[in-house]
Amino acid sequence: MARYTGPVCRLCRREKMKLFLKGSKCDTMKCPIERRPYPPGEHGRDRMRQGSEYLGQLREKQKARRIYGVLEKQFANLYKEANRTPGITGENLLRMLELRLDNVTFRTGWSASRNQSRQFVRHGHVLVNGKKVTIPSYRVKKGDVISLKEKSRSMIVIRHNMDTLDRTMPGWLESGAEGFEITVRDLPQREHIDVPVREQLIVELYSK
Ligand code: SF4
Repeated sequence: MARYTGPVCRLCRREKMKLFLKGSKCDTMKCPIERRPYPPGEHGRDRMRQGSEYLGQLREKQKARRIYGVLEKQFANLYKEANRTPGITGENLLRMLELRLDNVTFRTGWSASRNQSRQFVRHGHVLVNGKKVTIPSYRVKKGDVISLKEKSRSMIVIRHNMDTLDRTMPGWLESGAEGFEITVRDLPQREHIDVPVREQLIVELYSK
């Protein structure tokens, strides 16, 4: 399954903001954004100026893609589906991204980043309604129960994340079984999705 394998912090620097892609490093002074808060490359500082309307829309789309770890084509397909779905297209798009299994696993606090979540899912640690699902982009539905495999619950990395991460579970998810089981109570509404993305700009970009 294709995924981005290049330098991760570079993506944050390109968006000139923390996208929290690396887990614990993101909250320390080792985060490159703390020391070099300008885009990467020889002319990075020159790119600090205000860009065109198109550039703003493009950057918003790239930011959303990078936060959720979705490649270009997959993102474009999601947009098409969001556009076909009744309701506000931008909100539909964010909801679909939010319902990805790797994102839900990240929200639970089992993993420090969405990348780590993706790895947990790919390695078969996550069950949906009692069945192993190894597809990070799998979309959960209302009423689904997401849990950690019995054996995986004692993994040091998961225990460490659960003990140290101070993550608040969004209202559309409900925790059970001492935090090892999550029920999708409802579909997330825009106010429940805390990603710093102006989805309207993405819609404008794709509507051209
Ligand atoms: Fe982004 Fe985290 Fe790297 Fe900082 S440490 S640049 S927030 S991925």
